[in-house]
Order: sequence, then C-alpha cells, then structure tokens
Amino acid sequence: MHLARFPRVKICHAPTPLEFLPRLSRVLGGPQIWIKRDDCTGLALGGNKSRKLEFLVGEALARGADTLITPGAVQSNHVRQTAAAARRFGLKAVGVLERRAPVNDDAYREGGNVLLDRLLGMRFVYRPAGTDMQKALEEEGERFRSEGAKPYLIPVGGSTATGALGYAAVALELVTQANDLGLRIDRVVLASGSAGTQAGLVAGFETMRANIGVLGVSVSSARADLEAKAHLLAEATAARLGLEGGIARERVEANDGYVGEGYGIPTAGMAEAVLLLAREEGIFLDPVYSGKAMAGLIDLIRRGTFRADENVVFLHTGGQAGLFAYQEFLSRAAG
Ligand SMILES: *Cc1c(COP(=O)(O)O)cnc(C)c1O
Repeated sequence: MHLARFPRVKICHAPTPLEFLPRLSRVLGGPQIWIKRDDCTGLALGGNKSRKLEFLVGEALARGADTLITPGAVQSNHVRQTAAAARRFGLKAVGVLERRAPVNDDAYREGGNVLLDRLLGMRFVYRPAGTDMQKALEEEGERFRSEGAKPYLIPVGGSTATGALGYAAVALELVTQANDLGLRIDRVVLASGSAGTQAGLVAGFETMRANIGVLGVSVSSARADLEAKAHLLAEATAARLGLEGGIARERVEANDGYVGEGYGIPTAGMAEAVLLLAREEGIFLDPVYSGKAMAGLIDLIRRGTFRADENVVFLHTGGQAGLFAYQEFLSRAAG
C-alpha cells in the first residue's frame, strides 16, 4: 500500500498508542480488549478527523485552495478539527452547522466544540435540522467563489475516498503495531457515522489481506444504509489504492442497536460506557460517538458474542470536547 503517491500533509501525532485495557477486560469477562488511541492524534484535542484531514488538506493545497468549507452538526468534532487544520496551513475555515440534535441548552449551543471553533476563528453559518447539507455546502462554496475565494469543499465528516485514505493509513499502522507486539487482532470495533473511518479501515485491511473483521457501531443511520454507504466508499478507497476486484459486501458490517432515539441524543448505555471507561481505566469517551460504540461493545460482550481468547481493538475516535456540551446529562449520570 503506497500512500506516498497521494498529496498529504503531516498533522497527526502518529503512531497513536495501541494499549491493552486490563481492568475493563477483567470486569466484562469477555475477550481481551485493546484500545487504539486515535483520540490522541494531537491537533486541537485530536480525533479521527485529523487522519482524514492529512489527505484532504494535502489535496486542497495541491489545488491552490485558500479556504476550507465543511458541514457538520453544531457540536461537530470534524468541524473543529477542520478549523484547526485550516489554521495550521494558513487557510480560512468556514463551518456550515446543522442544528441536527434536538439538544438546545447553553452548553450545547455555545460550549464544547463551539467554543473551540470560536477560539480558532472559524466563520459559521447555521442551517435548520433536516437541511440537505451537501447542497448547503455547495451553495456556500458558490458564494465564496463568487467573492473571489478558492474554496475546497469537504463533505460531511470528511468521508470521501480521499479522506478515507487516512484510515487506510491507520489500517497499515495498526497491522504494523500488531506485528511488532505479536498480537493477533480478531476484530476492530468503532463508532460509525458518515462511514469514512470504517470504509478506510476496511479498504486498508483488504488491500493488505489482513483478515481483520471491522464492526461499525452506528451513531445515526439504520444498519442497511450505513453498510451500503460504507461499502461504496470502501470500494472507492480501495480502487484508489489499486486493489482490483472490489470488496466483498460481507466485509462491511454494522450494528444499529445502540443509536437510541437518534444522533446526538444521550442513551443510558452511553452513560454507563462513559462512566465505566473513566472509572476502570481513566479514559474519557465522548457522548455522541465513542460512548455509544463502547455501549455496543459492552452489550455484545455480555451477550457472549466474543470468545475469551479473542483480541478486540476498540478504535477510540476522540470527541471528548463534546462531554462539556452534555454537562447536565452527564453530571446527573455521574451521581
Ligand atoms: C466523526 C466521528 C466519528 C465517526 O466517523 P465517520 O468517519 O464519520 O464514520 C466517530 N467518532 C468521533 C468522535 C467523531 O467525531
């Protein structure tokens, strides 16, 4: 897998640690649980979007762009990391924010990621829930072009075949770490939303013939929709990597049992997962993505889905700035 063929900037502190979670593994009594710390990618509190942005910003600079425009939910971690990456390379940043989650207190509207976006000097435009955000992004791009700017548009979550190359790179990084440790990885479990992270991992593993299963725990979409989206993107990414013959549909697996009432709406399982990781391992998950994905992993372990001798890697995708946007819910949960 020859990633140096693609324009790329260096953003991430990588390789991120791959750590064993002894106390969580013991408490749950299931497989051996490891964690890949992509919450520690470094830029502006880190997270998975920085991996994608290495290739997206690389492409933007190669095309002579001067502005990055990207959509997201109000508390988007992707928008925050895009703003920081833009600043780092002397570009302007514009966020098109959808009031997507029906959470509307001060902490959600102005705290967490929104505060960080403001510190980064990002410009915002807001759109109501249910807006076609790809269309809103293109309209914003048109507006900036008409004012003489050279915008580079990044679709929601940075989930294009270019962005997903960032997670093909992580697949390579993870396999290298596993080989060095003598660790056989049976499965990777992660939060999946716009599917670029999952698609990039699958494409990377397939290109290397790593034979590592990937389970995406949905934070919003129904299973069939997420699997279809991830499969399409995994194939597009793999094609860019030179893999011929596509990717078997079964390699793309999602579970939509842990979304709860919807995107960004807290669940009891998320609260349990956030508290368990904090109190057993001193690790913070986030309320929108990694908390729900870990709630899924915990429940699947309790249902006996994994053997005790299996090695499961939980991909921590970051997002902890969102904890402060859910202050009221989480402080009640903490007791
Ligand atoms: C965006 C995000 C995800 C989901 O990644 P996708 O590539 O959109 O599926 C997971 N966790 C966190 C913290 C995120 O911000």
